[in-house]
Parts: sequence; structure tokens; C-alpha cells
Amino acid sequence: MPAEPLIIVLIGPGGTGKGTVAERLLDADEALWLSRSWTTRSPREGEAADAYVFVDREEFEAHVQRGGFLEWAEFLGNCYGTPVPQPPEGHDVLLEIELEGAIQVLERRPDAVVILLAPPSEEAQAARLRGRGDPEEHVVKRVAKGREELARGQEIAHHVVVNHEVEQAVAEVLGILDARRQDR
Ligand code: 5GP
Repeated sequence: MPAEPLIIVLIGPGGTGKGTVAERLLDADEALWLSRSWTTRSPREGEAADAYVFVDREEFEAHVQRGGFLEWAEFLGNCYGTPVPQPPEGHDVLLEIELEGAIQVLERRPDAVVILLAPPSEEAQAARLRGRGDPEEHVVKRVAKGREELARGQEIAHHVVVNHEVEQAVAEVLGILDARRQDR
């Protein structure tokens, strides 16, 4: 019998580099599968068309009704949800989501591993948000929301990784993943 997939949940405030870390983790670990979320948010300029499944609210709500999400949450006015994961055999599941969603995942899968990725400073976080073209009012909102996410995230996370450098953060997460795989 193949082992049940592990669920690794990466949380952390916007501008922490979760997306970049997730991408590098996939490059580094062939047995990791990234779940693609649904969102009602509009695509950002320059954002990859497959960054999310972009849907309207009606379509999102219909998917909620039919039990299609492992978790979903509203974040700054938009809905985001993780479809019930169907990874290829032999793969573990990586989720890159916000805090409320991580709490729901833990309720349904108490064995999930929650890793909080923290920015080295609020300045670094704001700079990263500006760099990807977020308007200034979003930057201010997201930094404030990030403060709350860091505090609450520390309460539920099994591990905290500070993203000083992408390579270092990725190596730390791979170490955590390795230890979990050996335990199962
Ligand atoms: P963004 O709009 O910056 O792409 O994402 C906003 C927040 O939603 C980020 O913290 C991101 O991790 C989170 N997010 C992305 N996909 C999901 C999801 O499927 N479920 C939940 N709960 N949060 C998500």
C-alpha cells in the first residue's frame, strides 16, 4: 500500500515570499505536488494565467455547495479555496494558503504539517509587495494584516521559518519535510 500523502501547509503574510519558496520546493523535490487554488480575485498584471483557477463568485459558491473544497476562506474581500487534493500517486501535497484555511485543514487533517514563513522585517515585506506592483493602499493593508497573521500563525504553526534568503528558507522546509517522511 502506498503511504497516504503528507499535507504540507505553507502560511505567512503577503510579501513573505511564499510563492517563490513554494516554486523552489517543487523544483527541489520531485515527490511534491502543489495544489492549485481557486480564487474570485482578478488576475494581477503579469500574473501567470495558471497561478489560480480564476472564477466568479457564483462559480466559487457552487463549488463550495458541492463539497469541492478541502478548505476555503475570504481574504481581503476575495474568496480563495483549495480543491480536495488529488495528487499523483507517490506525491505529497503542498498548500500555499492563508491562516483561516490552514486552521480548517488542521480540523480535517490533524496530521498536516503547518509551516509559517515569516519575513525578516516589515520593511522587507513592504518592499516585496511594492516590487510585485501592489498599489500603496494594498501594501499598507497587507502589512497590517500580516502583523496579525504572524501572531496568530505562530499559535498554530508546527514550524516557523524566517525567509532571510530563498535558498536558506527552502533548505529548512526540505529538512522539515524529510524528517516527516522518515517518521511515517
Ligand atoms: P494573493 O491574492 O496574494 O494571491 O493571495 C492572498 C492570500 O490568499 C495569500 O495569503 C495566499 O496564500 C492565500 N491563498 C491562496 N490560495 C488559497 C487557498 O486556496 N485557500 C486559502 N485559504 N488561502 C489561499
